[in-house]
Amino acid sequence: MRQRAARDQQRLDSGAVTSPKDLENLQHEIASLAKRQGDLEDVVLEIMERRESAQERVAELTGRVTSVQSKTDDAMARRDAATESLDSEIATATKEREVIAASVPADLLKLYDKLRAQQGGVGAARLYQRRCEGCRLELNITEVNEVKAAARDAVLRCENCRRILVRTSESGL
Ligand SMILES: [Zn+2]
Repeated sequence: MRQRAARDQQRLDSGAVTSPKDLENLQHEIASLAKRQGDLEDVVLEIMERRESAQERVAELTGRVTSVQSKTDDAMARRDAATESLDSEIATATKEREVIAASVPADLLKLYDKLRAQQGGVGAARLYQRRCEGCRLELNITEVNEVKAAARDAVLRCENCRRILVRTSESGL
């Protein structure tokens, strides 16, 4: 379009066109080409502005993706570390349990394992301040007296939840 306008201008300037009507047509065409060029330049400008704003948005979103990714990586690293630490605790506890279980009489261990399966993983509970820490119920006076009278190595059970009661110096007896 620019070439065509330049060509028209050349023809006009060369003086080759002499007829007034042709001259008028040529000038008219030059003017109309100039206007069109102006319009197109406006369109190009608008497109460039939109492109710039789209690029800004891409940069912003990329930044947010990076930030979310880094938070995810961080959370996963913490999860892995926690899993590792739990695995090691489980391994230690399992070893300790094996050692302790070896020293417990077979029938008591059997009872404990049965209760543990029945009572959501807790087969024995500490008796603390006259309260069974398995079911959280306080022993009544009769039960307390029975516990007090029992031999040191007797296996005691909670009357309420049936768990094995473990006596300590804090049992409140
Ligand atoms: Zn209980």
